[in-house]
Amino acid sequence: MTIHATLIPGDGIGPEITDATMRLLAAAGADFTWDRQLAGMAAVTAVGSPLPEATLDSIRRTRVALKSPLETPVGKGFRSINLALRMEFDLYANVRPARSVVPGLRYKDVDIILVRENTEGLYIGVENYIRIGDDPRAAAQSIAVVTRFGAERIHRYAFALAVRLGRKKVTLVHKANILKLSQGLFLDVGREIAKEFADRIAVEERIVDACAMELVTRPERYDVLVTTNLFGDILSDLTSGLVGGLGLTPGANIGKDTAIFEAVHGTAPDIAGKGVANPTAVMLAACQLLDHVGQGALATRIRNAIEATLREQKTVTRDVGGSANTAAYTDAVIARL
Ligand code: NAD
Repeated sequence: MTIHATLIPGDGIGPEITDATMRLLAAAGADFTWDRQLAGMAAVTAVGSPLPEATLDSIRRTRVALKSPLETPVGKGFRSINLALRMEFDLYANVRPARSVVPGLRYKDVDIILVRENTEGLYIGVENYIRIGDDPRAAAQSIAVVTRFGAERIHRYAFALAVRLGRKKVTLVHKANILKLSQGLFLDVGREIAKEFADRIAVEERIVDACAMELVTRPERYDVLVTTNLFGDILSDLTSGLVGGLGLTPGANIGKDTAIFEAVHGTAPDIAGKGVANPTAVMLAACQLLDHVGQGALATRIRNAIEATLREQKTVTRDVGGSANTAAYTDAVIARL
């Protein structure tokens, strides 16, 4: 069955890793029709807006998108495009898996799925300065909002995902000891939802700082984590680091009827245009997309080829200890299909 999806090649290394991913998907026989659209600096240059209406229209039509990293233009008037996309399509669940595949790293048995609430918390953009006397920026405040609705749906998503993937345990990560109301509500709702799954999934609670420490000392004890927006943002980069870095970690942004899949890393301006970027994160994001549209068998075949190539360590990119460029690594993965 043909999959109609929006493709946003993005900025910096985006177009290079997108091309590599398209080559891999074609070689694997994935049947896509891609609607290529612009966002980020590429869109500013072409049409004067970082998030053109045509791009939003395309996603409204296809309801599924693969997105490479975007550069948010620095300066007033532009909010983060990634944040804008999450809000526009109410992509409330950010799912970031981190699994040990690359050999020779400090950790061997990491297999964590981090589920981050993606639309609330401190990232709602409600911030202001407070003037005192002559100083218009004497103080600043950023407001964190947790709603029962938002907390219920993210916890239910995390537990349902754990059941679907045959996972054993969900850890509720919070800071309710200090932020008694917002984090307290998030934790209380998590406890309620956990009861619905009590016969299938074990539950535990961790304060976020202790969780961060244990993710470094004993990451193998974690299975599925669920947490609020800011903590999830930070901890998911940490879990990426446990398994070999940002070049390997995909992220799914899931809403009720739309989903956007992406690499968690940025545009890597330091290596853009050199043809040496690691395309794995976008390739794995494409696998998440395939899972999402019911093509899990194909996703597994592609993932296996990627993992075999990474395990062998013969033809891998510089960020994971090799010397291959993007094209050579992609060829090696294709040869493994
Ligand atoms: P970055 O992730 O782009 O780079 C951090 C480091 O990781 C760099 O040394 C880079 O070379 C390396 N790296 C990242 N991805 C790699 C890959 N695939 N292969 C090899 N090495 C890789 O983070 P940054 O430098 O903080 O941000 C650069 C730009 O990206 C900024 O404009 C930021 O706003 C944007 N950004 C976008 C997204 C997104 O679109 N999802 C996410 C984060 C940052």
